[in-house]
Amino acid sequence: MADPEQAAADDLHLVGVTKSFGSFTAVDNLDLTVPAGSFFALLGPSGCGKTTTLRMIAGLEEPSRGEIRLGSSSITGLRPYKRPVNTVFQNYALFPHLDIFENVAFGLRRRGVKDVRAKVSEMLDLVELGSFARRRPAQLSGGQQQRVALARALINRPQVLLLDEPLGALDLKLRRQMQIELKRIQTEVGITFVHVTHDQEEAMTMADTIAVMNSGVIDQLGAPAGLYENPRTTYVANFLGQSNLVRARVTRRTSDLLAVDAHGSRLTAPAARVHTRSDEVWIGVRPEKVFLSRAGTEARSGANLLAGGIVRDVCFVGVSTQYFVAMPWGQELVVFEQNTGARDVLTSGTLVDLHWASAHSFLLDAAQDSS
Ligand code: ATP
Repeated sequence: MADPEQAAADDLHLVGVTKSFGSFTAVDNLDLTVPAGSFFALLGPSGCGKTTTLRMIAGLEEPSRGEIRLGSSSITGLRPYKRPVNTVFQNYALFPHLDIFENVAFGLRRRGVKDVRAKVSEMLDLVELGSFARRRPAQLSGGQQQRVALARALINRPQVLLLDEPLGALDLKLRRQMQIELKRIQTEVGITFVHVTHDQEEAMTMADTIAVMNSGVIDQLGAPAGLYENPRTTYVANFLGQSNLVRARVTRRTSDLLAVDAHGSRLTAPAARVHTRSDEVWIGVRPEKVFLSRAGTEARSGANLLAGGIVRDVCFVGVSTQYFVAMPWGQELVVFEQNTGARDVLTSGTLVDLHWASAHSFLLDAAQDSS
């Protein structure tokens, strides 16, 4: 178990980090602490500034303003090879003429380290490629090449490992396997991983903490479940999974609860999930938190209820069924129901009510946007 004081001394800090390219600001005054030994994901769509942030940590770009620190030492301005930081790129960048063993040994040999054989063998075992040591990269699958790249980046025991869309070239099934593998390896080596991805599922599967980036700034940062259950902006609500967001107006505020009017229905949300002072709001709920009943057949006291839906489309997706429900005000809401076999699938055209516990609602600012 790592010493907590030592661990805090190795935390990675970005303090007021800005990167401009001419008049364009790619990363805007970023303040961020990545706890030592954690798996941290920078998540966001193409162009939001993730790779630029990673490249500044690696030393491949210098910030226009601000500082990057490891513990109390500034690494801003240090050449990339002087930083205790390594990077795994999407294209692996393996040496094609060297075998796997020599690819992984490369960094150790260059530094004149002893015990190369034992260290490389240990690392190849960690990534489960012990029996592939004498193959060339071209004789390995994409997933195996990715693990060689990982072993090579970890062999010098960097304090921080940067991963730039490392699974982007793999097919979906392999990517899922590698997500679990990467998480296992990170836990085993205890090195700080900073992982860049645009794939929310990937970030949620692996990361202890996710920073959701939007146009050069962090919109929200937190543990995956917290971000998913309690998003603070419509951007985060929509980027992490699917959300039902219904336009509403606040009618009553107490210290625990807010009540809103949403197209004539009275709905409530807990005060801890209210992220706006505005009276113009979106009330949100995740699709799997909603229960569908045939219209007028269920009264659930204390639950939020939206009546008057019509099932438009039904998609069977194995473990669950997805319902797309047209509401009287023209919006389509989505409901995921686990396929437990407890009841028949509702068919297209069925009149339904939507119910969910008040505790699962969140309230977001709608004053700024009209969509
Ligand atoms: P992707 O997932 O597509 O890699 P990203 O979130 O990693 O996207 P960045 O590569 O960090 O985004 O780029 C952020 C913004 O900065 C983009 O609009 C990009 O065009 C711009 N940018 C990045 N590098 C440069 C550069 N060297 N010169 C000018 N603009 C740049």
